Amino acid sequence: MRILITLLTMLASAIAAVLSSSGIASAADPPCAPTKSDTVWTWPLQESGRAGPAILRAFQPPRHRWDAGHRGIDLAGYARAPVLAAGAGVVLYAGRLIDRGVVVIGHGVIRTSYEPVEAGLTVGTSVSVGERIGTLDPGHCASSPCLHWGLLTGHGHGATYFDPLLLLGCGQVRLEPVEAAPQSR
Ligand SMILES: [Zn+2]
Repeated sequence: MRILITLLTMLASAIAAVLSSSGIASAADPPCAPTKSDTVWTWPLQESGRAGPAILRAFQPPRHRWDAGHRGIDLAGYARAPVLAAGAGVVLYAGRLIDRGVVVIGHGVIRTSYEPVEAGLTVGTSVSVGERIGTLDPGHCASSPCLHWGLLTGHGHGATYFDPLLLLGCGQVRLEPVEAAPQSR
């Protein structure tokens, strides 16, 4: 339950940030220009400006867990581009997953994922926000190199995905996790 509360607190602050900054924000309406002055979260690819890298494909959560969807966002990059930790945390996974390189960083109750990435760190390594965690491989987007950036909590069938733009004060809010919350005792 504490985990859920922590997550809801995070989402509430993200929503508040959106409401207090630009009124209405949408991942379908880039650029997402973070207004935060802190450096808790950052784009996982080096940006040329505050707007960050172009979003080639937005977050499209499936209606049901088993449906197709897009459980993250695709950011435009270039081959071998440095991939950066979006926030401080610990490397939970760094290696091949089927046909691609994947890095997962734990930030307390939430995790961020990055792919396809050739990992430059090993599991258990602590990273700071903006620290280089690997290099971008091609293959996720058909037209040009891109980074699939994910935000999730939970594990396996209990995993719930969120729009990572929430971390930057933008993005789509999804309410299903509240509905799926276990009873408090
Ligand atoms: Zn993707």
